[in-house]
Amino acid sequence: MDGKLVSQAVKDRLKQQTEVRISEGKKIPHLAAILIGNNGASETYISSKVKSCSEIGFKSTLIRLSESISELQLLNKLTELNEDFDVDGILVQLPLPKHISEQKVIETIYPSKDVDGFHPESVGRMVQGLPTFYPATPYGILLLLEHYKVETKGKHVVVIGRSNIVGRPISIMLSKNEYPGNATVTVCHSHTSHLNEICLQADIIIAALGKPEFLKADMVKQGAVVVDVGITRVEDQRKKSGFSIKGDVDFQDVSDKCSFITPVPGGVGPMTIAALMMNTFKACAAKDSI
Ligand code: NAD
Repeated sequence: MDGKLVSQAVKDRLKQQTEVRISEGKKIPHLAAILIGNNGASETYISSKVKSCSEIGFKSTLIRLSESISELQLLNKLTELNEDFDVDGILVQLPLPKHISEQKVIETIYPSKDVDGFHPESVGRMVQGLPTFYPATPYGILLLLEHYKVETKGKHVVVIGRSNIVGRPISIMLSKNEYPGNATVTVCHSHTSHLNEICLQADIIIAALGKPEFLKADMVKQGAVVVDVGITRVEDQRKKSGFSIKGDVDFQDVSDKCSFITPVPGGVGPMTIAALMMNTFKACAAKDSI
């Protein structure tokens, strides 16, 4: 499953819809992104998000803050963005410096601008099947499964990882009572026994544990669908950057057994950005009636 291609198709569609909004004199979607410090991976993620905004025709504001910013200063900045009518979506690139509470940051962003879908209100609404912002990575996975018409009804999905941003939400989303969903979902984590045997029973495996090339062929049933969420920088002296990006799946080993598999890079990563753009568009369109 080609995440680059599908992500481009989603962005092209959003571009057209944004052009229609502009021609109708409606508001242009505006994403405000906060980057704290200068973590290399965070720099890469945030610049792809800002670049996607400009490709689509969204407005974006990148706010760079020093690593030494206090928690209160950051929360005040978020309050300012919450009150700014022109800003539709707010994202704070994670991880945060240790002295800042991630939970406080997430809970300060208004649910109506929570385009990352991390606020407890957004998560609660998602669990209850109410309209909300889906967290970007799981939402991107759903868009990919939909694009390739992967059947999920009645299938056994094994999710490896139970984080609040990937494992837990995707497990809930794939068990909901509509496509892509209606799956029987097993959530595995670091305390799961007999993981190999459980994975062998899976029709669809979502690997989101952050351990490079963890999933091997002897854990995968013939014909399974494998979605690789992992992104880990592994030292690689052959690369100019000094590292290469590895997923949680040993692609070479596993791919022959799969009916569908996502590569890393070029799989779930670009879909996460496409999903974030969908959420930003939706946050803006929700203001049309105000
Ligand atoms: P996390 O560290 O918060 O959670 C990892 C989860 O994996 C935990 O629930 C843990 O219990 C489980 N786990 C760890 N070792 C395990 C093992 N041996 N067996 C079974 N379960 C195990 O990670 P996260 O934030 O969910 O991210 C997971 C990976 O996905 C990372 O590589 C991250 O960089 C990547 N990621 C990618 C995207 C994207 O856009 N593609 C987005 C978010 C995260």
